[in-house]
Amino acid sequence: MKKISCGQYQANRFKFPISKEDAEEYKLYIEHAGNCKTCVDWDIAQKIIERGANPNDFCCLIMGEKVTFSCDQHPDPWDCVDYTLVRTEKGNYGIPIRDGGSSYIRISFCPWCGTNLKKVKPIKVLNKKK
Ligand SMILES: [Zn+2]
Ligand SMILES: [Zn+2]
Ligand SMILES: [Zn+2]
Repeated sequence: MKKISCGQYQANRFKFPISKEDAEEYKLYIEHAGNCKTCVDWDIAQKIIERGANPNDFCCLIMGEKVTFSCDQHPDPWDCVDYTLVRTEKGNYGIPIRDGGSSYIRISFCPWCGTNLKKVKPIKVLNKKK
């Protein structure tokens, strides 16, 4: 089977979604992403950059992806189940509890990489719309 390189992946990734005639080619990209951590990380980093944040400001890319996530329909993280994590104005990280209010379970360590979140430098972008 034909394979693509990381360079090809990163150069062409955003051509997709593409037309059906290119579906075979698209599969190569999906396959590449499924087997290449470098490009998966790259994808997440691009997403964070698109949201106006710097991927290096977070303890890890997954945290960056979660913290910068914003839903078009629900600017308030407590209104939307797609928010896994919130960063409050006080700089605490937490998992939102959707009981009608705006409480959250505070977390001190990153669930993905284990970093002590108190030691992470404050970031500007919260879960907010651009
Ligand atoms: Zn790759
Ligand atoms: Zn982390
Ligand atoms: Zn939503």
